[in-house]
Amino acid sequence: MSHTLIESVDTVIVDLPTIRPHKLAMHTMQQQTLVIIRVRCSDGIEGIGESTTIGGLAYGNESPESIKTNIDSHLGPLLVGQDAANINAAMLRLGKVAKGNTFAKSGLESALLDAQGKRLGLPVSELLGGRVRDSLEVAWTLASGDTARDIAEAEQMLDIRRHRLFKLKIGANEVSADLKHVIAIKKALGERASVRVDVNQYWDESQAIRAIEGPLYVAGAPIVEGEARMDDGSEDGVATVMFLQGKVTGPDGKPLAGATVDLWHANTQGNYSYFDKSQSEYNLRRRIVTDAEGRYRARSIVPSGYGCSPDGPTQEVLDLLGRHGQRPAHIHFFISAPGHRHLTTQINLAGDKYLWDDFAYATRDGLIGDIHFNDDPEAAHARGVEGRFAEVVFDFQLQHAPAPEAEQRSQRPRALQEA
Ligand code: FE
Repeated sequence: MSHTLIESVDTVIVDLPTIRPHKLAMHTMQQQTLVIIRVRCSDGIEGIGESTTIGGLAYGNESPESIKTNIDSHLGPLLVGQDAANINAAMLRLGKVAKGNTFAKSGLESALLDAQGKRLGLPVSELLGGRVRDSLEVAWTLASGDTARDIAEAEQMLDIRRHRLFKLKIGANEVSADLKHVIAIKKALGERASVRVDVNQYWDESQAIRAIEGPLYVAGAPIVEGEARMDDGSEDGVATVMFLQGKVTGPDGKPLAGATVDLWHANTQGNYSYFDKSQSEYNLRRRIVTDAEGRYRARSIVPSGYGCSPDGPTQEVLDLLGRHGQRPAHIHFFISAPGHRHLTTQINLAGDKYLWDDFAYATRDGLIGDIHFNDDPEAAHARGVEGRFAEVVFDFQLQHAPAPEAEQRSQRPRALQEA
């Protein structure tokens, strides 16, 4: 049996100019650089493959230049003289000798498959076991960096019936500016188009944390040692009293005395003091310093869940997506202690109908506050209250701060920050 052998592997770098600058969060592309791979075989058949990455090395650990160099110097020579018709054996050989380089290897595999398909008179889809669909809708990326221009571009694509799916590149601007940009485009295109966004991994931890914190923190809440009453009594008889307590420990599980538990939550109407001017100053906001056993204790009221402001931009986006903007009842926390990493978190209360349908996707197994309602009059009497009350126990474990900055919360602007 005569084998068809791989005779040569050549690569060429091609720079294709883009029709407009393509603005990604980390990079603006003026051209798309491709590596074209040509595999020549002893039966005269040529297979063509293509391999590329974008944004230099910002996107991954291969670039068109490294793809070309590694194929020319290492991967190509390993294939020369091998059986051109046995692609699995060829790829196994590359896998044994070369780590990583997945883009370079996939370009070579494409070229070998292309040659084999030509040899057998079959499309590559048939070589791979058959196609499951005859066409595939492809998204068009809107990334001119200009809202009006993106809309015009999308309109043109819709007019000529070329694309109906659009991907917006965001992440380089302030989140609020990106939000405006996305709303304007989705509003202009309406039901005619489907829109999604790509941040290209550009948001850092503090931007993600900002979403967890929410916008309703107010700095300077009263500081209390060990135990605090958080509500001002204005909802007595309406609200259910909630006793919240827990322990703050270090990474070793030992209690942290003197840690600050800065917590805030909404009232029974789902509103926060300061933003809701009908509430007293710092109602349902306290800073509790843990006692010698690392404990904090609060008497407060069971908060209500709430929704996005119905007139705000977030609800506007959600309306366009056909989604509700409701959150389950929750309690926000900042927890800090010298030498420990500042913690921004929140717990969602069990039993809320939105617990697993939180529009903010904040529910996590480890962040559900089990709330126990107690109707025993004697237990209420012992607690100094009347009627039904609720108990929540939640402990926190802090991590060591890798650097002094990690002990501080992020530097975003906050209400009464200077207080
Ligand atoms: Fe909240």
